[in-house]
Amino acid sequence: AREAGREALRRLIIDVADFPEPGVVFKDITPLLADHDGLRSVVGGLASAGRRPDGTAAVTKVLGMEARGFILAAPVALELGAGFVPVRKAGKLPRETHAVSYDLEYGSATLEVHRDAVGPGDRVLLVDDVLATGGTARATCELAEACGAEVVGIAVLMDLSFLPWREALGGVEVTSLLTI
Ligand code: AMP
Repeated sequence: AREAGREALRRLIIDVADFPEPGVVFKDITPLLADHDGLRSVVGGLASAGRRPDGTAAVTKVLGMEARGFILAAPVALELGAGFVPVRKAGKLPRETHAVSYDLEYGSATLEVHRDAVGPGDRVLLVDDVLATGGTARATCELAEACGAEVVGIAVLMDLSFLPWREALGGVEVTSLLTI
């Protein structure tokens, strides 16, 4: 039954070759987001990563990475009885932030979070659609830690197993609903 569920999700994700640049296979999740059963199942699966074995919430906040992480993290937060916190690209958040820069294949990127969005005493779950090199997730862990929060885990819809995300993330607990 679980494998059937995964297969149904896979069919709702479209591979787009050479987007946004040559050599990249972009995983388009918009058909999955548009499918109520698919969306329901993904949100439920990701939320499981934020629960203790007895079913109670293990987290106080869910952090979503711009932009597709926002779409998944907000309903996961509601499901867990937790709050949602956006992690944004540089220059988008209006108040004082922590910022972390990291290297991309070409150039670099910076992510930010409001300094007061999480703090000591917060236990946080990170949510995104795709885990590729792990750079985005690593930077988000560093942002949460800069605020004094504890990272409980990372939950993603899919991981690209041919990329070295595990090395980037050290011992952080990772939950992935689909391995590509
Ligand atoms: P990375 O930092 O390399 O782990 O890349 C993860 C971020 O880039 C996530 O926010 C994804 O949304 C996006 N991303 C990376 N690779 C892909 C891909 N093949 N298809 C869609 N999104 C991707």
